Amino acid sequence: VTRLPSIEILGVEVARSEPGAALEEIERLYLRDAPAFVAHVNAHTLNLVAEDDSYRSVLTSADLVLNDGKGVMLAALVKGTPLPADLNGNFFSPKVLELAAARGWPVFFLGAAPGVAAEAARRLAGAVPNLRIVGVRDGYFDAERDGEVAAEIRDSGAGVLFVGLGNPLQERWLARCLGATGARLGVGVGAFFDFQAGTVQRAPAWMNRLGLEWVHRLALEPRRMWRRYVVGNPLFLWRVLEERGRRGKPSPGRERAGGAGERGR
Ligand code: UDP
Repeated sequence: VTRLPSIEILGVEVARSEPGAALEEIERLYLRDAPAFVAHVNAHTLNLVAEDDSYRSVLTSADLVLNDGKGVMLAALVKGTPLPADLNGNFFSPKVLELAAARGWPVFFLGAAPGVAAEAARRLAGAVPNLRIVGVRDGYFDAERDGEVAAEIRDSGAGVLFVGLGNPLQERWLARCLGATGARLGVGVGAFFDFQAGTVQRAPAWMNRLGLEWVHRLALEPRRMWRRYVVGNPLFLWRVLEERGRRGKPSPGRERAGGAGERGR
């Protein structure tokens, strides 16, 4: 569990952190004894959590959960505890790589279609001085090959493992296999490799600023994304409002009234 202050959203403790403090926490996790699992959650992730208790258990087992995108920021605001920064993967993951480069931590990229992680690695190695990417592997393999994949990562000597298999696969994979990879830190990064390799185009900066990156992704892949965004965004907001209403009432159970599930104020 993170030492950073956090807010509970749909049953998941999300860190409330500036990028600098989140990076310090990542360094602490890297250096401690046990391997650490870092997740990014957005509205889509938390919708999946709301529909699947086993996925919630996976996310609550993470050592650090970071907010990804404006939907979660809105949720925190609605719950009365704004988050200080949007730590979405495209902004934050390069910072983790810069930290890895500065400390000499070797990095492995697992995920995306064949060739994509390799291209992302090539571009990032050019952009981040001293970055050591010690291996890449695509994300299309059956669970029976988990052992073989974990052994490949272990043999590479990676300390940091970026896993881009999408939700919920990447978190399930990390919860199941991180220990076997020998990596100190496993981070779920979603479509990060696609964005870095240029196989999925990023939204223009003004759209990101307005929290409209999802409109761009919907336009690129309407068939796959309509449920995630057109149904998912209002559903997420409704779930958060419903949770706020529920938590606002006195409940002698898990939490005291007014606690609203927030910690570390
Ligand atoms: N992916 C993968 N293996 C799978 C399914 C998905 O490697 O079995 C990859 C996919 O190619 C993409 C990433 O997982 O690079 C995340 O996909 P998505 O667009 O859903 O990401 P998100 O928007 O959740 O970050």
